[in-house]
Amino acid sequence: MKTTWNLGLLYKSHDDPQIEKDMKAVERAYAAFEKKYRTDRGYLKSETKLVEALRDYESLFNDPAPAKGYMYFSFIQDLDASDSVARAKRTQILERLQKNDNRTVFFELALAKIPAAAQKKLLKSKRLAPFRYFLKNVFERAKHDLSEPEEKILGLKRIPAYEQWVVGTEKLLNRLTIDLGDKKLPIFEALSKVHDSPLKERRELHEKCMKALESISEVAESEINAIVGDKKIGDELRGFKEPYDQTILGYQNDRKSVLALVDAVTDSFGISHRFYELKAKLLKLPSLEYSDRAVGIGENLREVPFEEAVATLRRVFGSVDERYLSILDGYLEKGQIDVYPRVGKTGGAYCSGNIGMPTYVLLNYTKAFDQVMTFAHEMGHAIHTEMSKPLMPLYQHYSTSTAEVASTLFESFVFESVFETLSDEEKVVALHKRINDDIQTIFRQIACFNFEADLHRAIREKGEISKDEIRSLMNEHMSAYLGPAVRMKDIDGNFFVQWSHIRRFFYVYSYAFGQLISKALYAEYKKDKGFLGKINRFLSAGGTDSPENIFKSIGIDVTKPDFWKKGLRSIEKDIERLEKLTKNR
Ligand SMILES: [Zn+2]
Repeated sequence: MKTTWNLGLLYKSHDDPQIEKDMKAVERAYAAFEKKYRTDRGYLKSETKLVEALRDYESLFNDPAPAKGYMYFSFIQDLDASDSVARAKRTQILERLQKNDNRTVFFELALAKIPAAAQKKLLKSKRLAPFRYFLKNVFERAKHDLSEPEEKILGLKRIPAYEQWVVGTEKLLNRLTIDLGDKKLPIFEALSKVHDSPLKERRELHEKCMKALESISEVAESEINAIVGDKKIGDELRGFKEPYDQTILGYQNDRKSVLALVDAVTDSFGISHRFYELKAKLLKLPSLEYSDRAVGIGENLREVPFEEAVATLRRVFGSVDERYLSILDGYLEKGQIDVYPRVGKTGGAYCSGNIGMPTYVLLNYTKAFDQVMTFAHEMGHAIHTEMSKPLMPLYQHYSTSTAEVASTLFESFVFESVFETLSDEEKVVALHKRINDDIQTIFRQIACFNFEADLHRAIREKGEISKDEIRSLMNEHMSAYLGPAVRMKDIDGNFFVQWSHIRRFFYVYSYAFGQLISKALYAEYKKDKGFLGKINRFLSAGGTDSPENIFKSIGIDVTKPDFWKKGLRSIEKDIERLEKLTKNR
């Protein structure tokens, strides 16, 4: 078993001559594609020529993989931030890749310009069937494209109208510090410390953080008004009706299913109210404050060495499907998982899968119990990636909103199996933590979606709104999901100043979307082990169709509110389980 990455699966060293050979081959392939198709647009008129062009286009992605050298140096960087040679080489490659991409941008633009009637015919063609979903996406996106000069202007003003505003607030945030004893903590460190501190300290620390945020809230007020106003202009020009439509299209989702999700979760805020009432009881507090919402109960769970985590995952994966086990074993054998934290190694955990090259998983494994779940989560992404590899290159990438279905499904497999082995006290702590995470992933994110929708509407109607209005809007929506057990103070609304999610307009729904579908898949599997075949069909479907259609093909209709209600009911059941386990406290 290897616990460090073997990047030799990509290249031998920084100076491996193969890196330059591959880059040259990629550049030749892109140049040849441009030469063949930029001026001779016969493929816009002949189906035979279009099939050939699409085959040529997709072969650009894996033969050799354009991003291989870039990823190689990125991985080296992630293991050792001080490797400046790798950083320089990565930047050089990135510049070359951007030039490459510019050579082929014309192709999708040309396809998008095919007249609507001809597009319809192409989508029905038998010969083009393998490319149907790809073409459908290109055509859908094109409906919202503007003329070339207009696109150019919008592209040019993106930086002053959006990015420089967001970066400006970030700069102020990064300079903001909180006095704690004789230390000065950066604001983000202080905010993350709140949930791990004892009652008195966390409430004081939270108050200090909110005051510090208030001190720069005037800038954030201008920033939010500017970027939301800029989005309004773009949406009007591009013909997006609602402020969330562009995001939904980008994730290849269906508006009906996303709105059904938002409605179902909003209607079920009572479930999260019930959780916070129970949490107040378990913390022995008459009521909670905003700073208490994510705090844990009881002692941390026992330590789990990595060898034990591996044994657990091997046992669970093996009992579900031998294929999962053999993927895990292969990763451990070949050195595709980098396990432990080290000085200079990047934080957090991820799985990085790319077309035409091996997938790598990065962990920062300390022996804390939730690290086992993180390991299971990243392996879920890895298994999804491996099982989608036999697909044609155009479809190996999956949508953001299906990615989290796979990862959290594998968390469920492992959680349920480990849970049974815990002592009663450990069960209480683990179950509380799991529900707490579900509430944050589902209810909090949808409350944020509702907040964003109101924020955008208010700015669209009134032209601009004040920081006090933004603050009270935020409090209103946070209160809606937290319920009567949590008393909000005016000052809490300053949270908006630093909430980065709201600057990535409406993407928060994708968390709730993934988490609830994965709960439904797990519930089906628990009822009937034969459902595994359908789970595997989803895991091998990559991005061959929209998330809605992929799930529909295995009997799950996410456009119906009832579907979402079922998933929410499973969280309620977990709360009932926790109530039972703690009824004598
Ligand atoms: Zn993930």
